[in-house]
Amino acid sequence: MVKVNGNYLKLKAGYLFPEIARRVKAFSEVNPKVELIRLGIGDVTEPLPEACREAMKAAVDEMGTLDGFRGYGPEQGYLWLREAIAKNDFQARGCEVSPDEVFVSDGSKCDSSNILDVLGEGNRVAVTDPVYPVYVDTNVMAGRTGEALQSGRYEGLSYLPLSSANSFEAEIPDQKVDLIYLCFPNNPTGAVSTREKLKEWVDYALKNNALILFDAAYEAFIQDSQLPHSIYEIDGSRDCAIEFRSFSKNAGFTGVRCAFTVIPKTVKGKTSSGQEISIWDLWNRRQSTKFNGVSYIVQRGAEAAYSPSGQAQIKGLVSFYMENASIIRRELAHAGLTLFGGEHAPYVWIKTPDGMGSWDFFDHLLEKANVVGTPGSGFGAAGEGYFRLSAFNSRFNVEKAMERIVALS
Ligand SMILES: *Cc1c(COP(=O)(O)O)cnc(C)c1O
Repeated sequence: MVKVNGNYLKLKAGYLFPEIARRVKAFSEVNPKVELIRLGIGDVTEPLPEACREAMKAAVDEMGTLDGFRGYGPEQGYLWLREAIAKNDFQARGCEVSPDEVFVSDGSKCDSSNILDVLGEGNRVAVTDPVYPVYVDTNVMAGRTGEALQSGRYEGLSYLPLSSANSFEAEIPDQKVDLIYLCFPNNPTGAVSTREKLKEWVDYALKNNALILFDAAYEAFIQDSQLPHSIYEIDGSRDCAIEFRSFSKNAGFTGVRCAFTVIPKTVKGKTSSGQEISIWDLWNRRQSTKFNGVSYIVQRGAEAAYSPSGQAQIKGLVSFYMENASIIRRELAHAGLTLFGGEHAPYVWIKTPDGMGSWDFFDHLLEKANVVGTPGSGFGAAGEGYFRLSAFNSRFNVEKAMERIVALS
């Protein structure tokens, strides 16, 4: 028989969302009339911006003409989109990013996983705890960890614990790590980072020849103009950081699929013989071989996100979700809960009351308020005792969910 990849067998059974789905299904089977409100999975709910829809419709029609038809596009993305990204997302904020350092893709989830393809074995990998589970599980799948421990952590990974004591911002490691995953604004805690703190990370990375993988999927939700949106706002980052961005959460592209990864040409790794090599070259080679690009239609839709009307519509979407987040914050505080995040991110991170376990609080809200959230422990051992609510829902559902939770207190 064919051999399977044994690394997959190290994965802890019951990835978070399937377990949530299982409990919700079990509850609904016994209570078929109960209307649940889902503030669990981080998926957007509002319709696509009109500017993006119109651009995609026009692109469909163009593809129906002899002159406008396009087959395979560049694996890295069309230059006009890469230019719009470099100009609007980076140069406009004073960051030095050129269009050819932008790689357009069909998602940040895959990019942040696929990047391991061009990174070698034996790197010391640091992740925060709690963390977006993709960073951990993809390292497990790629054989970059040991076995799962009783705690749910994996041997061989360096965990940087987050808690209210450090404002959910990881301490700079005291030993040497080679690869660091950072996500700001953070999923799941909703925390943001400051320029000063990111500078400490960049300084650490430069000093230790480490690489930072910076996930900025939620940058559009930052409300304070003083906070950095990109790692490239930090001096020195072009030598030590890769940034992942996505149209999923700002433009509602979770079902359309478009994202991009920035790899400055100055980011270097080393070969087993110690020779310096450009990560950009390796990634470009990988994408050209394993990827055939994002559809022309979708890239036109993404480009329209940068038009004046696209920008205004995205601003409207972000404000809508952030208003939801502030309703959640206000009402939960009213219900006597201690909470974090939700100010620059669509996630509110709640301390479970009375020392309740994360899954107990999940069951409590499911059964008593008929609200589905996400147990903090699903994001890592240090998430135990916390719970995530998402602001991605209709105003009606958010208000109703909050009424139900407040009524419990
Ligand atoms: C939603 C999300 C993304 C975006 O993933 P896509 O594959 O682009 O939809 C990336 N990182 C985090 C932490 C997310 O929550």
